[in-house]
Amino acid sequence: MQGYILKITPTKNEDLILKILTPQSLDTFYRFYGARHSTIGLGYKIDFEYKINPHFLPQPRNILHLSHIWEKKYERMYIWQRFIQLLERHLNEIYEIEEFYYKLLESSALKLVLQNPKRVLLESYALLLAHEGRLRLDSKCFVCEEELDSQISLGRAFLLAHPKCVHSKTYAKTTILEFLQNANTFEFEDSQIDCLWDILCLGL
Ligand SMILES: [Zn+2]
Repeated sequence: MQGYILKITPTKNEDLILKILTPQSLDTFYRFYGARHSTIGLGYKIDFEYKINPHFLPQPRNILHLSHIWEKKYERMYIWQRFIQLLERHLNEIYEIEEFYYKLLESSALKLVLQNPKRVLLESYALLLAHEGRLRLDSKCFVCEEELDSQISLGRAFLLAHPKCVHSKTYAKTTILEFLQNANTFEFEDSQIDCLWDILCLGL
């Protein structure tokens, strides 16, 4: 089976607890430290088998790292791993893991070969918000619930607000709506992408 490593927790004797997202599930595995093992890392895509242990966590076997060409680029990998950490935390609160999340990582990983990593993952996040029915495109500020103007600011999860209500950077409302509705960051300058990325890092 194939999956993405969303979390690695070291435990006794260099054993590891792994959380792996597959198309069907987000499961926890126990990996004993042994002489023969492949290198694993946060955010890696792997192929693996597993052995069920009736008294403990299942054990992954024959792990094969299905590496992406961009993993050797430090900044790209760093941004990917940041998104993976945020996704892991987010999925902790989700009851049922749908294939959507695995597919989202698959399509994001493909785009990372060529495109700006923050843009790729911001667009992935807009797709996630839409999938979960959390796109708030109404014309009211999430803080004071009064009507918004043409210039807006953003809170966590890209909720729209008056600049005076959240005291942060301002954007044209039409540009933000275009981004959220179409999962496209084309209209933003790179400096704006950095600011939007910081908002994403507040939590998915
Ligand atoms: Zn307001």
